[in-house]
Amino acid sequence: MDSRYWQEELETMPRKNLEALQLEKLKASVTRALKSPFYKEHFGSQGLSADSLQSVDDIQKFPFTCKDDLRDNWPFGLMSASVDDCVRMHCTSGTTGNPAAVLYNRHDLDSWANLVARSMWSTGARPNDIFQNMSGYGLFTGGLGFQNGAEKLGMLTIPAAAGNSKRQIYLMQAFGTTVAHSVPSYLGRLFAVFQEMGLDPHKDTKLKRFFIGAEPHSEETRLRIQEMFGVKAYNSFGMTEMNGPGVAFECEYQTGMHVWEDCYLIEIIDPDTLQRVPDGEWGEMVLTTLDREAMPIIRYRTHDLTRIIPGECACARTHKRFDRIKGRTDDMFIVKGCNIFPIQIERVLMNFPEIGTDYLIELTNEQGDDMTVKAELKPDLFTDNYPELESLKRKIAGILRDTILVTPKIQLVPHGSLPKTEGKAKRVLDLRKQ
Ligand code: ADP
Ligand code: ZN
Repeated sequence: MDSRYWQEELETMPRKNLEALQLEKLKASVTRALKSPFYKEHFGSQGLSADSLQSVDDIQKFPFTCKDDLRDNWPFGLMSASVDDCVRMHCTSGTTGNPAAVLYNRHDLDSWANLVARSMWSTGARPNDIFQNMSGYGLFTGGLGFQNGAEKLGMLTIPAAAGNSKRQIYLMQAFGTTVAHSVPSYLGRLFAVFQEMGLDPHKDTKLKRFFIGAEPHSEETRLRIQEMFGVKAYNSFGMTEMNGPGVAFECEYQTGMHVWEDCYLIEIIDPDTLQRVPDGEWGEMVLTTLDREAMPIIRYRTHDLTRIIPGECACARTHKRFDRIKGRTDDMFIVKGCNIFPIQIERVLMNFPEIGTDYLIELTNEQGDDMTVKAELKPDLFTDNYPELESLKRKIAGILRDTILVTPKIQLVPHGSLPKTEGKAKRVLDLRKQ
C-alpha cells in the first residue's frame, strides 16, 4: 500500500522527541522572524532572540502577534525573505475587517501541501479517491490549499469551486466523486438541489467523505451533513495567517482536530489575563508557525475559542487534539447582559427536524434589546399551511431561553428565503444603533 502521507515517524513521535523537535524549529523560526522589520522591532527591542529559548515553554516570554500587526504592516512588513524569493500570496477574507496578507516561498508551498495531504490521509482518503473541491478559489486559501494537497496525495482533483449546485452534482456523478470539501453552510443548499432533481446522494453518488471547515459549526450540523449525504464529515481547521487549511484536522476517529505540532506550536490562553490555561480548559488559541520561511508568525492570537482535549487518540497519533471551535472572541454578542455565541443557537435549531440548515440572528435595539432568530423550514414545510407552526416556534423559543437565558422572537421562513453567500455564512446581522 502506498503510505507516503502516513508520516508515521512524525505523526506518532513520542511527546518528548516531538517537543525537542519543536524547540529546534522554534529557535529557527524566531531567528528567521528577526529578519523582518516588524519582528526586529517587536522582539528585538526587548532583547528577545532564539537564545531566550531554553525550552518550548519559554515562548511565553515573547509578546503576542495580533491581526492588526499584519494589517498595519501590510503587505510586506512581516516578511523574513525577499519578495523575489516568494511565489504566492493569499489574504484573509476580511470577515472581521481589512485583510491580512501572507506570502509563501517554494518551501512554504511544499510544506503546506504536505500538511494538507497528511490531513486528508488521516481521514482515510487515498490516491484512488476522486476529490471535488467545492470551495472558492482565488485569494481564499480553501481553493488552492486543498487543490495542492489533494494533488500531492495523488487523487484525481476536480477544482469545481463554490456554487452552481447543479454543475457540482453533474460533476460528482460524471466522475464518481468520493471525497469533497466545502464550507458546512453550503451543504444544506446542495442537498436541497439533489432533492429538487429527484436524486438521493446515498444512492446516486459515490460520496464517502466530506471535509468541512473554515467556519464554526456544531456537532449537530455535522451529524445532519453525514445523514443527508451518507458520508463521514471531518472537521478541517485552518487560517490564512497559518498557511490556510491543514493546520489541524480530524482523523478517522472524529474525536477533535489533531494540530500538526511538528509545524505549529499551539497554546491556549485566557483572553482576559493572557496567561496560559491547562489542557482541558477553554480559552483562545494562539499559534506559532514552525516550518515557514518567508513569513514566520510567532504567538499569533487567533481569537478562536477552543480547548485541548486531554488524553490519547485511538489512532496513535501523538499530536494534540483541540475541540470544535466554539466561535471567535469577536463572534460573541451580548443581549440583555447575556453573552451569546451563534453556535449555541445553531445547536438548538439543528435538533428540530422541521428546521433546515440556514438561519440568521438579527439584533435590533429600537424597542429595547431585541433578538430575532430567523430559521428556514425544510423544503416540504411551508409557513402558510403548516398547522403546528405556532407551537413549533414556542418550543424553539423555550429551549433557547433555557440555553442562552434570553427569549428571542422566532421567525420560521420558507426554504431558500434567507440571504446566501458563496463563501462563509453570515449568521448575525447586527442592526443595533449605538
Ligand atoms: P478570515 O479571518 O477573514 O475569515 P480565513 O479564511 O483565514 O479568514 O479564516 C480563518 C478563520 O476561520 C479561523 O480563524 C476560524 O475562525 C475559522 N475557521 C476555520 N476553520 C474552522 C473550523 N473547522 N471550525 C470553526 N471555525 C473555523
Ligand atoms: Zn486521531
